[in-house]
Amino acid sequence: MSRKLEGKIALVTGGAGGIGRATALAYMREGAKVAVADLDGAAARDVADEIVAAGGEALGLAADVSLSEDVEAMVAQVVARFGRLDIAFNNAGIEVEHEPLHKTDEAMFDHLMNVNVKGVWLCMKHEITQMLRQGHGGAIVNTASVGGLIGAPRQPIYGATKHAVVGMTKSAGLEYGRKGIRVNAVCPGIIRTEMTERAIAREPRRQQYIDQAHPIGRLGEADEIARAVVFLSSDDAAFVLGHPLAVDGGYTAR
Ligand code: NAD
Repeated sequence: MSRKLEGKIALVTGGAGGIGRATALAYMREGAKVAVADLDGAAARDVADEIVAAGGEALGLAADVSLSEDVEAMVAQVVARFGRLDIAFNNAGIEVEHEPLHKTDEAMFDHLMNVNVKGVWLCMKHEITQMLRQGHGGAIVNTASVGGLIGAPRQPIYGATKHAVVGMTKSAGLEYGRKGIRVNAVCPGIIRTEMTERAIAREPRRQQYIDQAHPIGRLGEADEIARAVVFLSSDDAAFVLGHPLAVDGGYTAR
């Protein structure tokens, strides 16, 4: 059976864990060469080693997506190693908001905005510049959340950042569609990753809420998001543009 991303060059941010790692591995299984970037460079290199051990080609690198110079260098390193960039999964994101709105502070607001919004903007800026230079189009997938589609109780700043990601995705999709660059977003429900495990460890009664959150009756798995991202990154989604795809076990269907 032919692979969906044979010979493509793909970049994943926040690739060291959770949804990013699962997607880096899924990209490899579909034939892509994968650059794995993360704030934690050593952990990103471990995922790259995992890909190489499985017979793929990969590069692991350290990059903080909220820093312009890191993002520019990240894209430059991908091009230096693989010659071009065809696919980008802008997935790095944080969820550090655990207080009701009136108890949150400016530092938290700025931190969430810097990583979740500025980070996606910076990545798209440098990735699209490279894709336009190449002139063969490309596919970009941004990680939003169900919190980018509906309200996120006790997470208003996080929800705002993910609504911003959906907005940027739609606008960039409109702007670059005719250049052959498709920009879409994935909006996961609650997924079994370290981010979710941290939330449960901090507040064990969240477990009950999480168990009941999805009409499908269970948590999501990182690999289920990865498969949707592969779809959006591939020619199977050739007519999908500026779309925030909910992969959420029915969370937003109610
Ligand atoms: P995770 O915490 O398991 O992994 C996130 C990765 O991003 C980590 O490896 C971390 O080191 C990296 N990272 C953090 N800040 C970074 C920065 N400034 N620059 C580069 N890398 C950075 O989280 P996850 O659950 O896999 O989440 C991935 C994405 O999915 C995030 O954008 C998150 O908001 C989103 N999301 C997660 C869930 C969920 O339930 N887990 C639901 C909806 C959306």
